[in-house]
Amino acid sequence: MIPPPFEYYAPRSIDEAVGLLHRFEGDAKVLAGGHSLLPLMKLRLARPRALVDIQRIPSLAYLREEGAHLRIGATTRTSELLESPILRQSYPILTDAAAEIADPLVRNMGTVGGNLCHGDPGNDLPACLLALGAEVEVAGPGSSRILRLSDFYRDTFVTALEPTELLVGVRVPRARLGQGNAYHKLEKRTGDFAIAGVAANLVLDGSGRIGTAGIALTGVGPTAILAEAAAAVLVGRSPDEDQIAHAARLASDSAQPASDLRGSVEYKRAMVRFLTRQVLERALARAGRAV
Ligand SMILES: Cc1cc2nc3c(=O)[nH]c(=O)nc-3n(C[C@H](O)[C@H](O)[C@H](O)COP(=O)(O)OP(=O)(O)OC[C@H]3O[C@@H](n4cnc5c(N)ncnc54)[C@H](O)[C@@H]3O)c2cc1C
Repeated sequence: MIPPPFEYYAPRSIDEAVGLLHRFEGDAKVLAGGHSLLPLMKLRLARPRALVDIQRIPSLAYLREEGAHLRIGATTRTSELLESPILRQSYPILTDAAAEIADPLVRNMGTVGGNLCHGDPGNDLPACLLALGAEVEVAGPGSSRILRLSDFYRDTFVTALEPTELLVGVRVPRARLGQGNAYHKLEKRTGDFAIAGVAANLVLDGSGRIGTAGIALTGVGPTAILAEAAAAVLVGRSPDEDQIAHAARLASDSAQPASDLRGSVEYKRAMVRFLTRQVLERALARAGRAV
């Protein structure tokens, strides 16, 4: 299938890319890995007049710890997440997710920015980055802004990005002593989108209590869901089996699944409960504390 005709631009800087988006007044789309956008164009579900290919902008490709943050540029590929020693060592939740995203072909092309901006509730990175308390850096014509990822998702395939804005990158609080995190999704076959997925990030304080907690869900609502009540019951407590079971029940309550070919509402809620227990236990083990 062939997409409808479009103009193609390959800017070399963020300013040039934003200038092009501005020039087309919302009738241009950013092209990153193209793995989601091009199928939509082939199906005539998207018909942009122009594509602004951001893959040749050097300043969008980075993955580094800098000051108080881990920073990941928009065009960083999923395969780079999987191969990163920094992530494996200090942010294994992102290595977990990258390993479960599709297959090597998709991972070699799909970008972090595309995974976030597409707004598909089945994508795995939004929940992981929500659990980590991420913020996104956005450039628009004449201005830039930073917003919390928890304010970014409005509905399925709908984000807070204006059509003239470019997501430049994402930043998460730098890993601390006592931090552990994990992600796992249930899939029908290896490489599928999630039936349900759960991300958890915990930071233990010096006395072994949970100081910070983030739990987020994939594939069980119109967007990735931050399970705030589930995380809140853990904070200030010494983790034990009862606390974990309580958090898992609350995470399941916060899911808004729909019944479909992947399973019924009840099944998906039960899977969220099961997965939450599993990732919390893994996160605690990674933080150096087993229950
Ligand atoms: C067969 C297949 C299986 C997949 N399985 C999974 C899976 O299991 N888990 C998972 O998480 N993902 C999965 N994906 C999605 C994939 O990992 C990519 O995340 C996804 O295709 C989008 O990334 P992209 O770089 O290709 O973005 P594109 O397709 O280029 O863009 C997607 C959307 O985001 C916009 N966009 C992209 N970058 C920016 C930016 N920097 N600023 C503003 N807007 C931007 C585009 O305009 C477009 O609207 C799968 C994809 C395929 C094709």
